[in-house]
Amino acid sequence: MDAGGGMRQVEYDVVIVGGGMVGATLALMLAQRPGLRIAIVEAASPPQTDARGFQPSFDGRSTALSRSTAQAFVQLGLWPEIRRYSQPIRHIEVSEQGRWGRVRLDAEEEGIEALGFVMENAWLGRLLYGACTADAAIDWMSACRVQAIDAVAGVQRVQVHSATGEFLLQARLLVAADGAHSSLRAAMQVASDTFDYTQCAVVCNVDSSEAHADRAYERFCHGEVLALLPRVDASRALIWTAPPARARELERAQEGEFLRQLGQRLGPAWGRWRARTAPVVYPLQRIIARQQVQAGRVLLGNAAHFLHPVAGQGFNLCVRDAAALARTVHAQMERGGDPGDIASLRLYEEGRRRDQALITTFSDRLVRLFAVDHALLSHLRSLGMSLFDLTPGSKTLLARLSMGAL
Ligand SMILES: Cc1cc2nc3c(=O)[nH]c(=O)nc-3n(C[C@H](O)[C@H](O)[C@H](O)COP(=O)(O)OP(=O)(O)OC[C@H]3O[C@@H](n4cnc5c(N)ncnc54)[C@H](O)[C@@H]3O)c2cc1C
Repeated sequence: MDAGGGMRQVEYDVVIVGGGMVGATLALMLAQRPGLRIAIVEAASPPQTDARGFQPSFDGRSTALSRSTAQAFVQLGLWPEIRRYSQPIRHIEVSEQGRWGRVRLDAEEEGIEALGFVMENAWLGRLLYGACTADAAIDWMSACRVQAIDAVAGVQRVQVHSATGEFLLQARLLVAADGAHSSLRAAMQVASDTFDYTQCAVVCNVDSSEAHADRAYERFCHGEVLALLPRVDASRALIWTAPPARARELERAQEGEFLRQLGQRLGPAWGRWRARTAPVVYPLQRIIARQQVQAGRVLLGNAAHFLHPVAGQGFNLCVRDAAALARTVHAQMERGGDPGDIASLRLYEEGRRRDQALITTFSDRLVRLFAVDHALLSHLRSLGMSLFDLTPGSKTLLARLSMGAL
C-alpha cells in the first residue's frame, strides 16, 4: 500500500468498517472504556430524516429487539430513548393456515414486562448515529470508500477515500462490520458458506381495523411465512417470506390486490387492511464466514453470519457478539495488552460458538420445518404446536430463546 502522497495518517485503537446497526453498537460499547480511540468508516452518507436517504442498515424495516439487546442498550444509556420509540411485544402467536395447532407465548405468563420490543431500523439508526457522533472517543467517517487494507508489524492499515481526501487509518484492531456481502471479508481472504433459501422477504408496514393489542404474529401458509410485528404508531410491520418470483409479484401487485391476498392468508378476524408503505424485497440467504478472527482482525454482524430472519434473531445475536468482543478488547487494554492479540480473539470466537450455532440452527430448522407442504407432516406440525401450547416448560424455553436469554 502506498502511504505517501499527502495522505493523512490517523491512529486509533480500533477501526470499524461499516457503521450499520452492529458496527455502531460495537463502537458505543468499546467507548465505554475511557481512553479508547475508535473510527467508524461508513460507505453511506449520514442517516437522513426523510425516507430517501437511509443507509442500508437503517431502512424502513422494523427489528424485534430481544430482552438481552434491551439490556445491552440499558448499559449504553440509550434504552430510555429507544423505549420511547419502540413497541413492547406482550403476546406471540404462531399458527399454520388451515390447521388447528398454534403456539402462544405470553409475557405475563413468563413473569416479564415484554417478550421483546419492536423498533424501526431508521429510528434506531438515527439514535445510534447521534450517540456515536456525540461521543468524543468515536470518529464517524461518512461517505467513505475503503481502497485497501494491509498490516505492517502488527498494525492494521486501512486506506480510505472520502470527499475530503485520502486517509490512512492505523489501529491494532480492524473490525469488518460491512454487511452480508462484506468486501473486507473478501480482502481478508476468508471463505464463506452460502446457502440460498430461494426465498425473499417482502417487507412493508400495514394497518388493520383491529388493534394490534401488543401481539406479534407468525403464520405459516403453504411455503410462505407471514410475520406481523406491532409498531409503536399502532400499525404493523409485515414480513412476508415467499419464493423469489412470487415475492416480485407481490412487490409489483396493485395495493388493493396485495391487501386482498394478505387478508385471504390471515382470515377475516383482522378486519380491513390498509397499506402504510410500499413493499421492499430482500433476498434471503444463509452466509457463514468460515473464520471470524485473524491476528488484528475480526468479522462481526452480517459479515460473520447472515441468517434467515424468520426467528427475528440476527441483530440480537450480533449484539451479544459485539458485547463479548468489547469485553475482550477492554480486558486486553486493561492488562496493557494488544486488542488485536490473536490468542484473545480466538477465545472470543470460541466463546461465541455455542450461541451462534444455537440461533443459526433454530432459524434454519424453522424455515425447513414449515417449507415442506406434505399433509402428514402438516398434521404432525399441528399436533406439535398444540402440545407445545399445553406444555409450559417448552414454551418457557422458546420464550427464553426469543428473548435472547439462553
Ligand atoms: C427482512 C429482515 C428482517 C429482520 N428482522 C430482524 C429482527 O426482527 N430481529 C433481529 O434481531 N434481526 C433481524 N434481522 C437481521 C438484522 O437486520 C441484521 O442482523 C443486521 O442488519 C446486521 O447489521 P450489520 O450492521 O451487521 O449489517 P448491515 O445492516 O448490512 O450494515 C452494514 C453497513 O456497512 C456499510 N458498508 C457496506 N460496505 C461497506 C464498505 N465497503 N465500507 C464502508 N461501509 C460499508 C453499509 O452501508 C451498512 O451501513 C432482519 C433481517 C432482514 C433481512
